[in-house]
Amino acid sequence: MPDSSDADLIDGRVLAQAVRDEVQSAIEEWTQSGRRAPFLSAVLVGDNPASEAYVRGKEKDAAEVGIETETHHLDAATLQGDLLDLVNELNADPSVDGILVQLPLPDHIDEQTIIDAVDPSKDVDGFHPENLGRLMRGSPRYIPATPYGIMQMLSRCDIDPEGMDAVIVGRSNIVGKPLANLLLRRTANATVTVCHSRTQDLAAHTRRADLLVAAAGQAAFIDGGMVKEGAVVIDVGINRVEDSSTERGYRLVGDVDFDDVRPRAARITPVPGGVGLMTRAMLLKNTLKAAQLRAAPE
Ligand code: NAP
Repeated sequence: MPDSSDADLIDGRVLAQAVRDEVQSAIEEWTQSGRRAPFLSAVLVGDNPASEAYVRGKEKDAAEVGIETETHHLDAATLQGDLLDLVNELNADPSVDGILVQLPLPDHIDEQTIIDAVDPSKDVDGFHPENLGRLMRGSPRYIPATPYGIMQMLSRCDIDPEGMDAVIVGRSNIVGKPLANLLLRRTANATVTVCHSRTQDLAAHTRRADLLVAAAGQAAFIDGGMVKEGAVVIDVGINRVEDSSTERGYRLVGDVDFDDVRPRAARITPVPGGVGLMTRAMLLKNTLKAAQLRAAPE
């Protein structure tokens, strides 16, 4: 039971629903003016159950807001050259607005080569070097969905990062680095520290964070002693821990020990029900943007 002094939850369910509603009405307006619905093409290679579940979730979310989708499900043994051919076909297809290649790819395929091959104007994941470069320059086109979702969570909860000491644990290209760039923009004005597995005395950094973002992929490893009183805590981690009491035999937990940290924090995101839902919603926003950009190129 939460105590009255516990942190307020930042509820990803409510915030993501608001984003989906906005995207849905924008798409209704878009199609009512005689345009076709935005079209997202997903590419899934192999049969990783988590990837399959992610793609199914994305198809379902898209259908709910009026985005049309197709999924190219390729065999795990697909050659890199054949995958590149498919990406090039989708790049050239004028009916495709957004392309999403579900990661991770099988080991024999070089992910970077595939990411680089996606037409940057259709790169709704925002992973192409051109889109990452634009983000770093401060004029983003597609913002990767997870950091985009985190920024939206903050602004929709009236949390202004200006002047905050923001500490991000994790330096991946899809979360930590783009989020650091977003928090550094003149629209956010946080002072940013990015930590990683070689950081000396991690707790010394996290304990001075006004805004702490955990994106390391280590189950519940941020405990209350690592968090400043009154901090805003954003938990990006999604980790499976064994749990024989559940039907699946596991449950999902974040990187933050929620029960230990909640009494110290001012605001906190839960897992599940937090950043993951916003990530899904932001992909829809990027796909709408892709359709808009095709109709009126920059
Ligand atoms: P990643 O590519 O594996 O990066 C993890 C980062 O955390 C690396 O920079 C690593 O440092 C750092 N790290 C690992 N252990 C650490 C430790 N003990 N202390 C300090 N730093 C540590 O992971 P990712 O793709 O960014 O994902 C991170 C987590 O977020 C995962 O649980 C993933 O499932 C989850 N995720 C969630 C969403 C969502 O929508 N909620 C989206 C994407 C990812 P080094 O660089 O030194 O290795």
